[in-house]
Amino acid sequence: MVKVGKCSFCGGDISPGTGVMLVKNDGTILHFCSSKCFKSFKLGRDPKRTPWSSYFLSRKQASK
Ligand SMILES: [Zn+2]
Repeated sequence: MVKVGKCSFCGGDISPGTGVMLVKNDGTILHFCSSKCFKSFKLGRDPKRTPWSSYFLSRKQASK
């Protein structure tokens, strides 16, 4: 069975064979569904303040 991971930035599903995996020097493994998420992470953006991430959308729904 192929595992479907979650994106470390936007929280969305990553389909097998796609996305970017980042291994930090301390051994932390981060998965990104697209280069868009990867670049946003490198720029130091906060997922909770990024309007298209699922974290932002779930917070918006909770606050209603
Ligand atoms: Zn993503």
